[in-house]
Amino acid sequence: MNRILENLTVTCNKCSQDMARSKFVEHYYTSCIQPCDQCGEVNMSLNDLFNHMAQMCPKTIVPCDNEESCQWSGPRKDLSAHLASCSATKVLN
Ligand SMILES: [Zn+2]
Ligand SMILES: [Zn+2]
Ligand SMILES: [Zn+2]
Repeated sequence: MNRILENLTVTCNKCSQDMARSKFVEHYYTSCIQPCDQCGEVNMSLNDLFNHMAQMCPKTIVPCDNEESCQWSGPRKDLSAHLASCSATKVLN
């Protein structure tokens, strides 16, 4: 009777796909396409989202490039504007 439990299907709460319970973890990380929690502008698997948030997401909070002499941190999309006026950048130039 336990076999019935192993073959149970579950419905992914992110993409509403049905699948065998044993496939769920793999699905969740590699093939479940979901929007970025932070910017909502891209849809990709969770593994790809980790890269997106670490390297590209415009809403990820990042520190100033001059981290050692500047306390600023903010969304990645504001970083270039900040660097243009960052007093630490001016000192380096
Ligand atoms: Zn899914
Ligand atoms: Zn994003
Ligand atoms: Zn700065």
